[in-house]
Amino acid sequence: MTKTSSPSQASSKLDAKLAEPPAGCSLCPRLVEYRTENQAAHPDWFNGAVPSFGNADAQFLIVGLAPGVTGANKTGRPFTGDAAGDLLYACLEKFGFSDGQYDCRPDDGLTLPNAMITNAVRCVPPQNKPIGEEINACRPHLYARIKTLKNLKIILTLGKIAHDSTIRAFGEKLSAFPFVHGAIHEIDSYKIIDSYHCSRYNTNTGRLTTEMFEAIFAQIKSEVDG
Ligand code: URA
Repeated sequence: MTKTSSPSQASSKLDAKLAEPPAGCSLCPRLVEYRTENQAAHPDWFNGAVPSFGNADAQFLIVGLAPGVTGANKTGRPFTGDAAGDLLYACLEKFGFSDGQYDCRPDDGLTLPNAMITNAVRCVPPQNKPIGEEINACRPHLYARIKTLKNLKIILTLGKIAHDSTIRAFGEKLSAFPFVHGAIHEIDSYKIIDSYHCSRYNTNTGRLTTEMFEAIFAQIKSEVDG
């Protein structure tokens, strides 16, 4: 599906600072309450809006769902320490998108020279399930993240929530751009590629296999430089 859109947000001047909300973001009452509980129980954890990780010159952006409570919420880096991160970071390495060794901690020295990872919702939600208002409240951050990556060509959306929020960020209708594993949608100058989320649930149930995820990465690799 191809479409050149005039995203509703594009006309308003983009505030680059919006791309990364403050760690103590207070937009979503339920998420702030959950954060406060986690801070009390685990004061040594990151417990905040998890910043995107990667290179501001990246051509490739990965959009996840939201931080896992004992993973990204604890470590402060997307997918880091989350079960889903094992497969994601292994694929990034295999297809040449990372330098260094992923070691489940934010100070492992890993870099992503031509990629960035962000989340549709930046704060950890209870039961790993953000509600509609939270996804909507966080979307301006996702949109700003996309638009401030000046070399961005390809966006990988992990799961339907990340896909839907990305399509909506461009002001487009989901019916015109439905989530389908492996589909590539074109909006403006971007290619948006869908994948089932690399969660442990999906890999355990066989919905997503390593081979399927690697095929998505092989497609992405053919779309970017180097
Ligand atoms: N960790 C993240 O940061 N995002 C996800 O979508 C899953 C785990």
